[in-house]
Amino acid sequence: AAVFGPSAVTEYLEQVVEQLRDQRGGAPSDSIPALAEADPERFGIVIATADGHVYAAGDADEEFSLQSISKAFTYALALEDLGAEAVHEKIDVEPSGDAFNEISLQPGTGRPANPMINAGAITSTWLVPDSERDLRRDRIRAAYSRCAGRDLAISPEVLAQEHDAGDRNRALGYLLASAGIIEGDPIRALEDYFAQCSVLVTCRDLALMGATLANDGTNPVTGEEVFAPGTVSRVLSVMSSCGMYDDAGEWMVRVGLPAKSGVGGGIIAVLPGQLAVATFSPALDRHGNSVRGVLACERLSQDLQLHFSRTA
Ligand code: GLU
Repeated sequence: AAVFGPSAVTEYLEQVVEQLRDQRGGAPSDSIPALAEADPERFGIVIATADGHVYAAGDADEEFSLQSISKAFTYALALEDLGAEAVHEKIDVEPSGDAFNEISLQPGTGRPANPMINAGAITSTWLVPDSERDLRRDRIRAAYSRCAGRDLAISPEVLAQEHDAGDRNRALGYLLASAGIIEGDPIRALEDYFAQCSVLVTCRDLALMGATLANDGTNPVTGEEVFAPGTVSRVLSVMSSCGMYDDAGEWMVRVGLPAKSGVGGGIIAVLPGQLAVATFSPALDRHGNSVRGVLACERLSQDLQLHFSRTA
């Protein structure tokens, strides 16, 4: 791989932003007004290394909602709290090939196929317990904040809109309750799921959250261990097969990194032990992945030789 000095990395990222800026395909999500009104011109790329160096280009400090990227981190928290076995009884780790909000549970067990589709993500949220001091949603927000290295906030505006647009997720919550996966009333877990989707992040935050995964669960800037290495290994494995909606296979061929995207326009991609790439651009393709984000990750994967099949 090419060897870059620090300013050369930033310069390189700025070039990629400029070169891909005129890619104007796709459109912001229309699921809620806060997303539909996002400026499609926004575009940022940030690399954070597993030893804590950060290189940013473009709109690295613009806030947007975390959306589905939250699923990876709440799954991690559920694994930490309950252990892999107990979580596995409720959520499988098989790619579904379905759209993220598909109304489906596995025949037989009734389990969601994986934690990256909404059914599995709502179950992860439900699994995270309240602590004596803090409600579940604050524990979730605090875990994300430790990964990002700063205090992240839930947007009340986005949360209200997620609540208003939440009937399909409510349907999934009640389906999970009827299958005995969620025990009891799913409503509070659903509201907490809406809240986790509404956490505001910047592309820089995302890169540090990814770098925490790249660094075995320890935030490389603050030095805080957020997740145990075994948890991170399981989360990255599921991200590899299920992180990019129903485009996960194509993504693996083109980019070759465990990743997670959200309909807010963010993507994180992780090269374990090395670095994380985060991108932000609100216009999405038909799968729900950021158009410029996917192109940027593909470009970086090629130029920096990040694809898993070429890093040996
Ligand atoms: N809040 C959205 C939902 O649950 C998140 C979707 C996404 O980012 O894929 O439907």
